[in-house]
Amino acid sequence: MDRSEDMKYANIIVNISHENLDKTFQYRVPDDLKASISIGDYVSIPFGKSDKVINGYVLELTDRAEYDPAKLKEIISIDTDSRLVEHKLIRLAYWMKQTYGSTMITALKTVLPIKKIVKEKEEKSIVLAIPESEALLQLEQFVKKHRTARERLLRELINEKELDHRLVTTKLNVSTATVNALEKQGILTVEKKRVYRNTAGTEKQKSPVTLNNEQKRISDSIIDDYRKGIRKTYLIHGITGSGKTEVYMEIIDAVVSEGKQVIVLIPEIALTYQTVMRFLRRFGDKVSTIHSRLSSGEKYDQFERARKGDVSIMIGPRSALFTPFENVGLIIIDEEHESSYKSDNMPRYHAVETAEELAGLHGASVILGSATPSLDSYHRAKNGDYELFTLKERIGDAKLPAVHCVDMRQELKNGNRSMFSDRLKELIEDRLDKNEQIMLFINRRGYSGCVSCRACGHVIKCPHCDVSLSKHINGKLICHYCGYEKESSPVCPKCGSSTIKEMRAGTEQVEDAVKKMFPYAVTLRMDADTTKKKDSYEKILAAFANREADILIGTQMIVKGHDFPYVTLMGIMVADMSLNAGDYRAAERTFQLLTQAAGRAGRADIPGDVVIQTYQPEHYAIEAAVGQDYEKFYDEEIAYRSLMDYPPVGHMLAVLTEGGTREEVDRYSGALADKLKDAIINGPYAPGISIIGPADASISKLNDIYRKIMYIKSKDTDKLGKVKEFIEDYCDANNDRGIRVTLDRDPVRGY
Ligand code: ADP
Ligand code: ZN
Ligand code: ZN
Repeated sequence: MDRSEDMKYANIIVNISHENLDKTFQYRVPDDLKASISIGDYVSIPFGKSDKVINGYVLELTDRAEYDPAKLKEIISIDTDSRLVEHKLIRLAYWMKQTYGSTMITALKTVLPIKKIVKEKEEKSIVLAIPESEALLQLEQFVKKHRTARERLLRELINEKELDHRLVTTKLNVSTATVNALEKQGILTVEKKRVYRNTAGTEKQKSPVTLNNEQKRISDSIIDDYRKGIRKTYLIHGITGSGKTEVYMEIIDAVVSEGKQVIVLIPEIALTYQTVMRFLRRFGDKVSTIHSRLSSGEKYDQFERARKGDVSIMIGPRSALFTPFENVGLIIIDEEHESSYKSDNMPRYHAVETAEELAGLHGASVILGSATPSLDSYHRAKNGDYELFTLKERIGDAKLPAVHCVDMRQELKNGNRSMFSDRLKELIEDRLDKNEQIMLFINRRGYSGCVSCRACGHVIKCPHCDVSLSKHINGKLICHYCGYEKESSPVCPKCGSSTIKEMRAGTEQVEDAVKKMFPYAVTLRMDADTTKKKDSYEKILAAFANREADILIGTQMIVKGHDFPYVTLMGIMVADMSLNAGDYRAAERTFQLLTQAAGRAGRADIPGDVVIQTYQPEHYAIEAAVGQDYEKFYDEEIAYRSLMDYPPVGHMLAVLTEGGTREEVDRYSGALADKLKDAIINGPYAPGISIIGPADASISKLNDIYRKIMYIKSKDTDKLGKVKEFIEDYCDANNDRGIRVTLDRDPVRGY
């Protein structure tokens, strides 16, 4: 952080509960405050013509006066109360700006909830209106008549007696029409929600499970640390179903009972009704949730409840980190390896690092949990920065599935040209006979993958976005970024050969092949195309959970966080697809996907099978996934990262330059690189810094914008921070309207 003693001026914002955050006022810092003032401080200042004394927050400290210094007024006093939520959030924003690169205003807009005037929404609940015995009879009727939505709703009502209306219509995926129909039948009533009870709705609460020895060892150890005042980061490495969530809840209980608040991050995709209900059952009205489907007004309301102390546990995706809690004791990040924890807007913050920074400001601990920890977190655990716990067994009798690896090259040699290996075909037939369910996973959407020529290698791309076009079932070639369409041609436009064909299978193609091979099977498909409409994602999942289909075919979306007890076969069509993605995390992502996919089969008492089809069975990511061996994968992967100085061993700063013409972008990024090279050779950073590029980004043109990418690598984060500042200063000084430069520290996706 800049040394505040050197800073003569402070930029102050006077109203932060406002959309217009950009308005700051500059004040002089009096000598006696120079040593103590810091970003986020709440200060008294004379304001306006009358010099009325008002309060504001310090956003920036600088030695650059924006006006004639003689005319600037002086800060009167610092009134910071360290408990003040805004103080911490502004400091956090400052840290994010410094760490990831963005303006202070952008960082501030990320962390401060924006108040919009919204109509008060009435909270409603659904209450069971008939005795349980009668409800059970009714339930039987619904089951018989296959009224699945009614059945689902009634089943939950019998369990819970009262349900949150919003949760029912969003997460349980029951339409308002269904709710109204049951109300007409007199089965339930819709009521205005009662005033929040601070007693956490004791009648609703179920007694928690008794933790097993492994679970108890972890929760005891962390709670013990907590009571002793030890604050740190823990990593719980435990396979899916090993009871991590129960451990979290036990620790949350202890932290909340000390009057502290807890933030629980869950990837959006895993934020299901079932997950939320588990927390609600245990903690009742102390829990609030946010998710991306909430309007900004609804989100603001949930944040206000947190600010007022009405709730003490917030569950949500990465932005739940910015819940305005006064006194956070614990931050939990479940499935911490998920790439959705990295923001794709500036500042491109990572929720794990940001949670650790926030925990530092609050004096809180952090718990990370995953079945396949990110290399970064596991590396830190191995270095002793995190304390590592392992949960090895699944709860109950649920066994891990048998994993079979099939070499597709061999299948081809044997004359099998279909996309199903003999093994997978046999197992699908077997499960269809037994009336059990199947999931087929393909890492690609559309009818097929990119179209390429086997004779000359030419790949057909979008003229606007420079990504390969995908062939759809209607025969057209479609761009998945901008939607550009063209007719497919029977011959290669470059060499004229007729060997041009789609290289890889997509979900539609798999669905077609399934229908041909197993005409009696009922299929569902889930990919970006079928889930465009609001709620369609939940609808497909609900239909599959209700056993309305035998086979669910889908992309990544199907392998994450859902429990389908009747799925006993998971087929991974081509495991290599994500391996060839062309960035340094490809192997890690593949290992995670395969391990998660394997975790989807055989969760109940029926043992499951997983078939991994691949052209590279000897690749370590695939071998380790087949053996369900995290340690083996980690050892191989960390050796590769060390060799190449890739994160987490080294650090990388991605510098993306974008602009309207190729020449402009080339010129700007070239000049920036030259200046940077000069500074590195002659300046204070060398040695230990290297520049890669600038080169065309892997998507070198997106929506008619040209993109060049440059990577700066170093093991030293301080040096990388200096480079970041150098680039920011350069871009400030060489402001070019047609050019945008975006910074991303330790990127998790390719550009
Ligand atoms: P994870 O979060 O690791 O996937 P969960 O905490 O969801 O695991 O546990 C998996 C299932 O086992 C859940 O249904 C949970 O309620 C149950 N469970 C967890 N721990 C216990 C326990 N000690 N006794 C009985 N059931 C448990
Ligand atoms: Zn060709
Ligand atoms: Zn395009």
